[in-house]
Amino acid sequence: MVLPDGGRVARVATETPKAQGPEAVVRACLESLRMSRARAPRQLADGAVGIGVSSPGPIDPWRGIIIEPPNLGPEFHDIEIAAPLEAALGLPVYLERDTNVAALAEEAFGAARDCPDFLYMTVSTGIGGAIVSEGRILYGPDATAGELGHVPVNLDGPVCGCGGIAHLEAYAAGAGLSRFAREAVAAGTSSFLSQRATRDGLDALGAQDVAEGEDAGDAVCAALMAQARHAFSVACAGYVNIFNPSRIVVGGTIAEKQGDRLLGPARDYVARYALKTPRRRVEIVPAELGPDVSLAGAYPLVTGRLGDDRWRPGRSDVTTLASA
Ligand SMILES: [Zn+2]
Repeated sequence: MVLPDGGRVARVATETPKAQGPEAVVRACLESLRMSRARAPRQLADGAVGIGVSSPGPIDPWRGIIIEPPNLGPEFHDIEIAAPLEAALGLPVYLERDTNVAALAEEAFGAARDCPDFLYMTVSTGIGGAIVSEGRILYGPDATAGELGHVPVNLDGPVCGCGGIAHLEAYAAGAGLSRFAREAVAAGTSSFLSQRATRDGLDALGAQDVAEGEDAGDAVCAALMAQARHAFSVACAGYVNIFNPSRIVVGGTIAEKQGDRLLGPARDYVARYALKTPRRRVEIVPAELGPDVSLAGAYPLVTGRLGDDRWRPGRSDVTTLASA
């Protein structure tokens, strides 16, 4: 359960039973929610006003449907999640894309406090994002706006996980760096990565290996990390020109580990190449909330939408049942 200050009590973590299909995943969510409510102090459990669900996109936040989550398998599409959870628990349920929830959390409790115009980015296995303008998330009609990792940073280049060409994610995220690392092993150009592949297996090569290779003085690893930083910098300059954000808040495991080694070059590049007016204002800062960011974001997600029928169209009233 999430408290008004973003603190969490009675946290329950469970494996996603993806092999058993979508219904089992919804049931597992329900079980976790019941368990959390049972473990929380009675007064808190009775005071719960709603449920926030954070999911990888694409999702339909209005109808509460997960459209096509990545990496779960072909049978996972158009999964109704809000309605069955509401029916079972007697509380309104609000579904939102994980990166939008993270942005709400950083706005309420973290690096975007008092900042109504900001971008949130997460740089880890993939690159996700959110656009907040005048305090509101930008959605577009399909709620897919804000996919900041899927912007081309080159005319030609590697095919991204989404099928697009030369996207930022293909250069600077974990999946892209793993792919370049495997190619370097196949080409025999990096003794560091070849040793890692022999030790851990080719498929285990990831961003961390490339980053460690750079620190160990491996030229190929250094070039790949430089390319990742350059791609990130170029994309940030584009975002500044297009969105005029006051801040770009950057989270995710790669950003956390790289810190100013990733953000510093982006600040320099933006200061030099972004449009003069917006570049004077923008700050590129690390996220503050860490891996539980989407949990903290459940509080602003739910409280910002309670009682607003736009976020639950066609769903009947749920009564807050303390004993449900
Ligand atoms: Zn892409």
